[in-house]
Parts: sequence; C-alpha cells; structure tokens
Amino acid sequence: MADLGTDAMEREKAFLFASKSGRLLYHIDEALRRIRNKTYGKCVECGEPISAERLNAVPHARMCIKCKEAEELKKAK
Ligand SMILES: [Zn+2]
Repeated sequence: MADLGTDAMEREKAFLFASKSGRLLYHIDEALRRIRNKTYGKCVECGEPISAERLNAVPHARMCIKCKEAEELKKAK
C-alpha cells in the first residue's frame, strides 16, 4: 500500500513537470513567432516596449511589467 501512494505521487510530480515544461515550450514558441513578426519585446496589451531588464529575467514575456501586474491582480480577484 505504501508503494501505491509513492507511485501516485511520482506520477503526479511527473505530470506537473510535464505540464510546466509544456507551457514553457508554448511560451518560447510564441516568443519566437513574435521575433519573426517583429513584435517581440513589445507589450501585447499597451504596445509599449518591454524593459530590457524584464526581458532578461523573462525572455518570453508578452506584457510590460505594468500590464502583467494588472493581469495578476485581475486573476487574484
Ligand atoms: Zn503594457
């Protein structure tokens, strides 16, 4: 029985890992598409350039920090 529990946990962890890296791949793919469209580094919300500092930290960022914060606030509600 103890084995069963561990197995389930391992599967859960594997699943979480796979979905996380899947999302990251999706974001990277999106970023590459925006580089091709020459819209990379521009906020998809307000069209303002995303700061180099932010792009260094999050290379696949789609929004400037202001819009991202606003989105996070909306999500939290
Ligand atoms: Zn913005």
